[in-house]
Amino acid sequence: MERILSGIKPTGQLTLGNYIGALRHFKDFQDKGEVFIFIADLHALTLPIDPEVLRNNTRDIAAFYLASGLDPKKTTIFLQSSVSAHAELNAIAQNYLYMGELSRMTQFKDKSAKMNDKEIGLGLFAYPVLMAADIVLYDADTIPVGEDQLQHIELCRDLVHRMNHKYGTKDHDLLVMPKGSVSKVGKRIMSLSDPTKKMSKSDPKGDIFLKDDMKTIRKKIMSAVTDMEANVYYDPENKPGVSNLLTIYAALNDISIEEAAEHFKGCTRYGDFKKEVADTVERELAPFKARYEEIIASGEYIEVLKDGAKRASEVANKTLKRVQNAVGLLTLE
Ligand code: ATP
Ligand code: MG
Repeated sequence: MERILSGIKPTGQLTLGNYIGALRHFKDFQDKGEVFIFIADLHALTLPIDPEVLRNNTRDIAAFYLASGLDPKKTTIFLQSSVSAHAELNAIAQNYLYMGELSRMTQFKDKSAKMNDKEIGLGLFAYPVLMAADIVLYDADTIPVGEDQLQHIELCRDLVHRMNHKYGTKDHDLLVMPKGSVSKVGKRIMSLSDPTKKMSKSDPKGDIFLKDDMKTIRKKIMSAVTDMEANVYYDPENKPGVSNLLTIYAALNDISIEEAAEHFKGCTRYGDFKKEVADTVERELAPFKARYEEIIASGEYIEVLKDGAKRASEVANKTLKRVQNAVGLLTLE
């Protein structure tokens, strides 16, 4: 059976980009295979973060997972830090990925460029190693992500290739080769106030947060940066703002960009266009946000995470043992 794994790191408030590019799709995998969805809290430490903020972000993501329709009976939902095998496999995997390739990662270059050299932690540099460990621990085949994470998945594939080559046998690979899965529409939602930049929770630019109230969300859409042409069509190069809003509209209505562009053909008033986009976003997010509030109030996510940690550990520990054994660590049982 296909194994599917994905996660979001609690570095900030989840944005509409996280929702469209990742969160919204997770539930669709529940009937296709065995799904593991985690909160990448160890990854959140790779940028400076206040402990209380981290804890709150973590609770929020747990509640958002459940609100998005993930069913804990079908999907294993857990915290990365509560399954120690992640850190243990990280210690092994770091010897099979190289400094040169890690330094070419776009995420590292982008994030470190905004920091003072003295503040750039080793964890930020080594991020893709831990991410590779996260993936291979679950023998995962399919990794649903936004486009920005594909480069890290490619690196994970290199790791799998290397370790299989070195430690696999003719009949048995040591590790399962994963592949990234990006949605056709909405794999890269751009910022509403600077549509040439990716919408990002750790570096938001007036972006839509899932926790914003509906009035604020509508206001942000109505004041999204567009252009002076007053004509709605898809051209990400010359009309990044309008194209981004068209993408949001298409993704949330489950239609293609072409269909969305056709729908707005001849529309010459950006105000009307934006209002329809805002209506679509509201239709999708209002019930989701209401469910999130209920889950936070009931605290039901706590038991889900505890149970998830047990289930995830069972699977992860088996892979860890297999790898420890293969690389020559003496396993005493
Ligand atoms: P950070 O700034 O901390 O990197 P982020 O918003 O990029 O935050 P991640 O935790 O890195 O979020 O990614 C969570 C998931 O959301 C990943 O699958 C990622 O590819 C996806 N994602 C992130 N930003 C976008 C976006 N703007 N459009 C579509 N998908 C996105
Ligand atoms: Mg990111």
